[in-house]
Amino acid sequence: MFKNRSYCGELTIQDAGRRVELAGWVEGNRNLGGIIFIKLRDVSGTVQVVVDSSATPDLVAAADQARSEFVISVYGVVRKRDEKNINLNHPTGSIEVLADSIKLLNASLVPPIPIETKDQIGEDMRLRYRFLDLRREEMRDAIIKRHRAMQAARRFLGANRFFEIETPVLNKSTPEGARDFLVPSRINRGEFYALPQSPQLFKQILMISGFDRYFQIVKCFRDEDLRNDRQPEFTQIDMELSFVDADAIREIVEKLLKEIVREVSGREIQIPFPKLSYTEAVDRYGTDAPDTRFSLEIVDCGGMFAGSKFTMFNAALSAGGVVRGIAVPDTGAISRKMIDRYVEEARVYGVPGLPIVKLGDGAAEGGIAKYCTPDEQAQLRRIFNISQQSVLFFTAGAHDPVSAALANLRLKIARDLGLIDESKLNFVWVTDFPLFEYSREEGRFYSKHHPFTAPQADGIELLDSLTPDQADMVLARAYDVVLNGVEIGGGSIRINNPDVQNKIFALLGISPEEAEEKFSFLVEALKYGAPPHGGIALGLDRIMMILLNRKSIRDVIAFPKTANGRCLMSNAPSPVSPDQLKELNLSLVGK
Ligand code: ASP
Repeated sequence: MFKNRSYCGELTIQDAGRRVELAGWVEGNRNLGGIIFIKLRDVSGTVQVVVDSSATPDLVAAADQARSEFVISVYGVVRKRDEKNINLNHPTGSIEVLADSIKLLNASLVPPIPIETKDQIGEDMRLRYRFLDLRREEMRDAIIKRHRAMQAARRFLGANRFFEIETPVLNKSTPEGARDFLVPSRINRGEFYALPQSPQLFKQILMISGFDRYFQIVKCFRDEDLRNDRQPEFTQIDMELSFVDADAIREIVEKLLKEIVREVSGREIQIPFPKLSYTEAVDRYGTDAPDTRFSLEIVDCGGMFAGSKFTMFNAALSAGGVVRGIAVPDTGAISRKMIDRYVEEARVYGVPGLPIVKLGDGAAEGGIAKYCTPDEQAQLRRIFNISQQSVLFFTAGAHDPVSAALANLRLKIARDLGLIDESKLNFVWVTDFPLFEYSREEGRFYSKHHPFTAPQADGIELLDSLTPDQADMVLARAYDVVLNGVEIGGGSIRINNPDVQNKIFALLGISPEEAEEKFSFLVEALKYGAPPHGGIALGLDRIMMILLNRKSIRDVIAFPKTANGRCLMSNAPSPVSPDQLKELNLSLVGK
């Protein structure tokens, strides 16, 4: 019906004098008696439409009827606005369209959420009326930029000889460490598909099949408890490559991310990204997903407090634990109340407290000052590199809780004191992860990534007789990419030797029968000339959230689920009819 439709938001002063056809939604309508202004919106933005005193009565009536969110078409001539009405803050603010015809294409109820406002709107309402929410500028912007990011990825990967290949959604379980979503098979009674937690097995199979570079922008499903940056279904840019090492994969991923960032935000990022080993990341930042936009690095004080009179330190060190701390510049901004809150939060991680001391050029004050000998104070100045009055926060205990508590504290303090430069995009690779974790409670090894991750060469020998104490001695050929303290991707070089793969299964307590039952096709395929290969998956939702500076991944996903896993618009999940259950040979035990 429109032969030559122009986009509202793309009209410029160059179009002045041109007759255009427009179609879209009415965002606002002001009748100033004799002259009517309509703000017309389509996917590209808005433009001002004017009906002036020269208009026919029919045209005036049509303009008058056009209420908020009515769909109309407009024919008219673009003209420069009067000097006094020019708004240079708006992309189309120097022009308007003098209408000579307006048609009502459809009416609308009064929208339950405002479309044009930048104000906060309750998220439940936004999700319930997502079809309207998506008309709002910030959501429209997010969805369009997400599209552009995906297009950029496809372009870049296509140009680098990657094949885009789909893998099945109705699947067998893929071990990525989460719970599966199951789909009952009607034809095969009593049997279930699992929705893929990732295309891991299939992408490795594709390498064995000879498609030496694969990618897919793919939905993955993990039935986990949902946190702010998790969704039951999320999107990965999934890749796998043959005949490469980890460096080559990282290089390609850096270039890909550079393209995506350029496309989404017009910014140029520095590559290559800095690299940190897992151990270094945890030692310096308390976490394997470090936010390097601010310092406040963790310092180990175990050595210098070896003879400490302070019981908490003493007890931790004699139990084989650690004493660590961070130094925060003391500008007077840290109140007693804040410290109390930090202590409370630290306890959640299982540390006994957060003793502090204030230290600069002079003698230490406050907190545990009286337990710190002058010699210890001098050592603290040195190891924390103290050049100004600072507040030192310590904690003590087993390695993991201390790291977790200090990682959280670092972040909290940086946020509270405004130490984070929000304009930064700090990418970092974390490498040399341990291959396994050992759970004392369950008395078994777990894969830190997944069971197909290759061990580093010097760990292979240990596999035959690995003891729990040696768990972190076998390092993985794995790498994560972290942006501003959020893991945005992870991958590894894979095992391509069936014997090593079997040893790993054995260590993970996966019996040959279970391996056969779960991933026999991969184990079998490994015997038929599996090339050296590896890959990575990038979390598109998280990347978009960070690049667009949004608080939640829900704000960069067209139709997300709530923290309870519900879609408030479609109301999924929902009960099914007894007939459907019967057909599937299922019965419900209770609600
Ligand atoms: N399949 C892994 C994941 O989804 C990524 C990879 O190893 O390539 O986390």
